[in-house]
Amino acid sequence: MSSIPAAELAARIRRAGGERIVLQFPDGLKRQAAPLVRELRAEGIEVAAVAGDPCYGACDLALDAVALTAADLLVHIGHAPVEERSGVIYWEYPLEFDPASAAAAVPLLQGPRVGLVTTVQHAHMLDAVAGVLADQGLETEIAPGGGRTPHAGQVLGCSYATARALSSTEILYIGTGVFHAIGVALATGKRVVALDPYTGEVQEVNADRLLRRRFALIERARKAETIGIILSTKSGQARPDLAARLAALSERAMVITMREVTAAEMTNFGCGAYVNTACPRLAYDDQVRFPVPLLSPQEFEILCGVRAWEDYAIDEIE
Ligand code: SF4
Repeated sequence: MSSIPAAELAARIRRAGGERIVLQFPDGLKRQAAPLVRELRAEGIEVAAVAGDPCYGACDLALDAVALTAADLLVHIGHAPVEERSGVIYWEYPLEFDPASAAAAVPLLQGPRVGLVTTVQHAHMLDAVAGVLADQGLETEIAPGGGRTPHAGQVLGCSYATARALSSTEILYIGTGVFHAIGVALATGKRVVALDPYTGEVQEVNADRLLRRRFALIERARKAETIGIILSTKSGQARPDLAARLAALSERAMVITMREVTAAEMTNFGCGAYVNTACPRLAYDDQVRFPVPLLSPQEFEILCGVRAWEDYAIDEIE
């Protein structure tokens, strides 16, 4: 049985006028596909196909699968929208945790006022977390959602707008891993504490190590004879104007379109370095997978001498 309530989803599909749908899941939820297809069919919904390509966000809608199968609606599971699109239903997949776990962060928080941010799966928990922190004498602030992050307090690896909107000088990030927390620190320049709500692990994040690694990559990329400017073909990652502007900065640069940014494709083209205008997370979090430096747009600007290292900024998609 699927953990997605099929009857409720079927009702939403019918309300949206969908008669023949394509389902799309992030990799971690693809095992839900087979039972959900059965359950939706039992509800009278025609499922034309399940999109099988890797999917990491609502920036990568399987619109090609919809066109190919003559479906009339895409049901995208697991993410909130990053842009307005007709013909798409977003079915989010919220994850609960015990809000009392937020008390573990209190010893590291300076207060009295703390901004709260989290990922889409936990955005609905922020008010409960604020209540727990209020009981501990802390005032909290949550910025309204908008743009690529429609939920209050939600951050994405490509948008920290809800963190930048905070007036508090200290921010608590709630979620697993430190990638987003480091992004919040770089985007805001503020003190950031990260709390894993499942393990209770809490730490003040330090972006210096990442910055040292990024500086070394820029220096390595200076030696490249050719530099590939990667332009994503995914619906919500494509930044053609940015790619063209960056390519114009150097005669060594050429724009290369890619769907999946892989080490194999980088090796095939043989460039000495690449610049990433696709999902910003690829350059910061996945560099270890790639054979040569993958710079962010801002890092390439530093390499080309049109931006100073002191003006380093994290890449975000507007
Ligand atoms: S661009 Fe990257 S960080 Fe942004 S929604 Fe897509 S996968 Fe997530």
